[in-house]
Amino acid sequence: MHVQRGSVTLIKMSEAGASGGKSPDNRDKYLMNLMSKQESMYCVQPLTWCPHLEKVTSVPPQGLDTSSPCETCGDTNENWVCLTCYKVFCSRYVQEHMVKHHEVEPDHYIVLSYADLSVWCYGCNSYVEHELIQNAKKTACKHKFGE
Ligand SMILES: [Zn+2]
Ligand SMILES: [Zn+2]
Ligand SMILES: [Zn+2]
Repeated sequence: MHVQRGSVTLIKMSEAGASGGKSPDNRDKYLMNLMSKQESMYCVQPLTWCPHLEKVTSVPPQGLDTSSPCETCGDTNENWVCLTCYKVFCSRYVQEHMVKHHEVEPDHYIVLSYADLSVWCYGCNSYVEHELIQNAKKTACKHKFGE
């Protein structure tokens, strides 16, 4: 038994050597890797539309201040602005006051991150990308990075 197993291994190894190394095996690994990458890319793909976008209101005339503190705790590290009432609250990694804002105002769904300018919808639990929020994004971007 032991001897047989050894000889099978030996044959496989020499076959691999004869057909030019391990490239078929590597190609499979490469394809699998590519597929799993695409899968995870698909997972973080933002929605291009969601029904809560109608709750988004236009950017206030005074613009957006991306260094605004959280209205509840005053933290300035990682805030979001509500795109319905334009109040600023901290992220779930600080004291989750934006999550609480959505609990108090359940129809304020869509929020813009002052940290990375991504837009999150609490109604869909997903990132959203849409024309309606481009202006808020642009305004925040201008303030954060200048022109
Ligand atoms: Zn806070
Ligand atoms: Zn709000
Ligand atoms: Zn939504």
